[in-house]
Amino acid sequence: MPGHQAGCFGALFRRKQVSVLDRSHETPLQKSHTAPVGSSADAVGSSTQRGLKCHYLTPCDHSYTDVSNWWLETDAKPPAYSSGSDLNFQSVIDNKLDELSPQLRKLSLEIHDHPELGFHETIAHDLLTSFMASHGFTVTQSYLGLTTAFRAEFTYGNGGRVLGVNSEYDALKGLGHACGHNLIAVAGCGVALAVKAALEAHDIPGRVVLLGTPAEEGGGGKVILLEQGGYEDMDLCVMCHPAPGATNSANIGTSIASRAIEVEYAGRSAHAGAAPWEGTNALDAAFLAYSGVSVLRQQMRPDHRVHGIIAGNDDWAANVIPDYAKMHWIVRAPSSSELHVFVERVKRCLEAAALATSCEIKMNLKAPYYDLNQNQVLGEEFSDVVKTRYGMSTNGTASSASTDFGNVSYALPALHPGYAIPTGRNSGNHTIGFTKAAASQQAHDATMVVTKGLAHTAFRALRDDEFFKQVKISFKS
Ligand SMILES: [Zn+2]
Ligand SMILES: [Zn+2]
Repeated sequence: MPGHQAGCFGALFRRKQVSVLDRSHETPLQKSHTAPVGSSADAVGSSTQRGLKCHYLTPCDHSYTDVSNWWLETDAKPPAYSSGSDLNFQSVIDNKLDELSPQLRKLSLEIHDHPELGFHETIAHDLLTSFMASHGFTVTQSYLGLTTAFRAEFTYGNGGRVLGVNSEYDALKGLGHACGHNLIAVAGCGVALAVKAALEAHDIPGRVVLLGTPAEEGGGGKVILLEQGGYEDMDLCVMCHPAPGATNSANIGTSIASRAIEVEYAGRSAHAGAAPWEGTNALDAAFLAYSGVSVLRQQMRPDHRVHGIIAGNDDWAANVIPDYAKMHWIVRAPSSSELHVFVERVKRCLEAAALATSCEIKMNLKAPYYDLNQNQVLGEEFSDVVKTRYGMSTNGTASSASTDFGNVSYALPALHPGYAIPTGRNSGNHTIGFTKAAASQQAHDATMVVTKGLAHTAFRALRDDEFFKQVKISFKS
């Protein structure tokens, strides 16, 4: 399976001040070696005792609002949505999604309860394809050679435009659905089914294509589908993504470009005590690479990111000079052109380590994830719809996350709103707290609001020629 890029929300390392009394960020090791907060053991040698009131925490999340403004689980306020009925505007889309909501909730929880890693999402694939088939869509399983990708389409009448919708459903290793892709999965189904209902009710010709896109967190399922022609017949494409943010809010800002690099160092083993001079130390190469990149951080721009791990090797032993080391890196920058320049600088650090240790180096650059090229006209329509109908506010703050939908957004007019679900203060995307948040009823309700907003926006692009003309004009490839 061609690997592509490490995941969307392995992303934002925004600094947040957090009270030392909040220990939800501690590692299992720390927790197992310290007593509960408030105990005498906790006070001994604690940061508080040393006079430190706070420290910086670097959670990985996709928030677009300062943490002080996040919609928290403890906030009682529900999303202010009402299906538009109080606006005296009963619509097919709203009614359809109100009707489908319990089924979509059940589907979402089934996916949430069976987390699967990228390219292995067989349960989600089967659940989603049978759901779409049962609602009148023609389904192609294992689409374009990807076992867990699918295409579900519905055509009404002759001619008209083609709406693309994306569902993601991969989870994270050890964390489950910590990016809320169970919510994205059902939002995609909801948009597709609501627009189908609207096409039929208003007798508008057109087609809806729901693509099930695997491996967003690492593997670039959409990039592969794009390269295979999976988006060729679409006139526009939409999807959404949950994140921390203000209560009942959405975000249509851009995201940043990213590229994963896999690097391997090969040396020669030797007895570490008896004859270390006979060895060529691959771990040293990885160590120098890590140090070199760390030094590079001093000279990089504040909106760039580079982070990596030493993947290690089960065969390593303290008394043997390691002859092999592997590293995984992710490099991020606001735009693809800046990313290209920055990747070259990171590569030099990796190459320098091989030179210094006389190791051989093998570098595998994965396909880049582009920044999000949000279509302005679609974004404005979405903002209007969710504000007018559901009282949801929208902002255009740029996110430090990355997504393979960025590549889609440069191929055709596209919209990818982020939206808030209630979560804990230290529980942004890619934390166990966000896994819990993604299963809540309020998260589902917020997802349904955004699903309605996207369906209204997309339906307008199918039914309104002048509107779609403006969408095309504003598309910048
Ligand atoms: Zn993610
Ligand atoms: Zn995600």
